[in-house]
Amino acid sequence: MSDTRQLRPEFWKKYSLDELSSVEWEALCDGCGACCLEKFLDEPEAPYEVEYTDVACKLLDCSTGYCSNYANRHKFVPECVSLTYDKLANMMWLPESCSYKRLYLGKPLPKWHLLITNDAVATQHGMKNAGVGVAGRCISEVSVNEDELEDRIVRWVKA
Ligand code: SF4
Ligand code: SF4
Repeated sequence: MSDTRQLRPEFWKKYSLDELSSVEWEALCDGCGACCLEKFLDEPEAPYEVEYTDVACKLLDCSTGYCSNYANRHKFVPECVSLTYDKLANMMWLPESCSYKRLYLGKPLPKWHLLITNDAVATQHGMKNAGVGVAGRCISEVSVNEDELEDRIVRWVKA
């Protein structure tokens, strides 16, 4: 969690996404890990038809749902997208729960978001109840053949 002293009160309601500091921007991520899953984009441009699989990037720790080497990830996964405001319009394949997508579309943060609960345990429970998060239910791409991907499409991530 970010140092909350660096966050303006309710910044996500008061400022647009392009007015946020880098700390505020990072604080929006709930760490669900869904954007680290392999997916099929049936349309190259928005509006996307997207189907997620439960197959995760090789750097994702599938037990925690967190990137195992976030600081150096581009050295190992050059194609990993750094989410920035200018890319967001072309990233509507993100899950419906993703705060960046929600705010971009004028929706509120999910009520379980840490910025709202200020309670990591409550957020953890809220995410679990909402079916959000890949921890414990994904498999690393290193264990799966590419031709098995279509068989691994899941419905628990919705865009
Ligand atoms: S989908 Fe959105 S909220 Fe979830 S990890 Fe990716 S950027 Fe963060
Ligand atoms: S490098 Fe890390 S952040 Fe990027 S897709 Fe892989 S696990 Fe996710």
